[in-house]
Amino acid sequence: MCSGRVDMKFVLRAFSKGIDGVFIGGCHFNECNYIANGNYHALNMTLLTKRVMEYIGLNPERLAMRVMSGSEANLYADHVNSFIKKIKELGPLGKIEGLDKEELNVRLDKVTKLVPYVKVMKNDKLGTFLMNEDEYESLFTKDEIEQLFSEMVSYYIDPEKCQACMTCARRCPVGAIISAKKEIHIIDQDKCIRCGSCMAGCPPRFSAIGKIVGEPVPPPVPEGERTVVRKSKEKTEVS
Ligand code: SF4
Ligand code: SF4
Repeated sequence: MCSGRVDMKFVLRAFSKGIDGVFIGGCHFNECNYIANGNYHALNMTLLTKRVMEYIGLNPERLAMRVMSGSEANLYADHVNSFIKKIKELGPLGKIEGLDKEELNVRLDKVTKLVPYVKVMKNDKLGTFLMNEDEYESLFTKDEIEQLFSEMVSYYIDPEKCQACMTCARRCPVGAIISAKKEIHIIDQDKCIRCGSCMAGCPPRFSAIGKIVGEPVPPPVPEGERTVVRKSKEKTEVS
């Protein structure tokens, strides 16, 4: 398949299955047969994934991307051989990193769930086309990725404002919003991939969804206490 199809999730899945190294082969830059230039996307995705690997304590050299054409079999063999040599030096996954299998899988699971969030937050850079290879070294920095996880964005529905219009639940791509007619909606924080679509979709007259950065999310309203008080009714009762 086109290297542009490579996703961070594929790479992390390979590691969670115990693969010691992942090699991605793409076409030479500016030689895409189509107009998609998927190889640039693959490179950006590889660089971002390397930073994420670093963040969870995995040696980023376990992932490599090299470019070549279909007629360069020798080059392909050289790249693959040198990658295998490197992986043999590093040894089994987790060994040089000092991570046992259980700990490694916990970290991989945790970060895999956050892949959509990472991609949304880094979407602009993932679509970058840099012509100077040196610039790629600093496309994603270690500090930037640490900040991304330490100042993680969460979304929260304010129970005082939610009017149960259900728009957010319809928009959520992963069904993370607990939704029922006439009931305050709740975001299931374990399922939420932090895409922000719900906040964008909540009608401005309600503006019930807010962003929380780097702070714990308030506990959900208990079941049985979620009945919405309609704004209009509230006004009528007061007047
Ligand atoms: S941010 Fe909102 S729309 Fe996106 S996954 Fe979370 S609950 Fe769903
Ligand atoms: S879109 Fe806003 S008002 Fe409507 S159910 Fe969701 S949080 Fe409540």
